[in-house]
Amino acid sequence: MNLTQTAVTPAPLAFRLSRCKGGSDKYGACEVCGEQADTMYILTPMLRYVRPCGTESVCFPYAGKFGHKKCLASHTEQMQALAV
Ligand SMILES: [Zn+2]
Repeated sequence: MNLTQTAVTPAPLAFRLSRCKGGSDKYGACEVCGEQADTMYILTPMLRYVRPCGTESVCFPYAGKFGHKKCLASHTEQMQALAV
């Protein structure tokens, strides 16, 4: 998929934060700080773009990240800074 012609400018990143059913025993250490977590969350970055027909859609160009809720919250700010 060629996003360069249809991407919204500036690329608006959106994030979905979902709580996982389990902690570090199942998913491993937090990918942001490396510490164990009782409750794991997954952060999924989504990129909004406009289709050639004009409707807006989302794609998932970046891998999701597992970690603490507060670690992922600070991570979204870093990703947002990278995207602009
Ligand atoms: Zn963490």
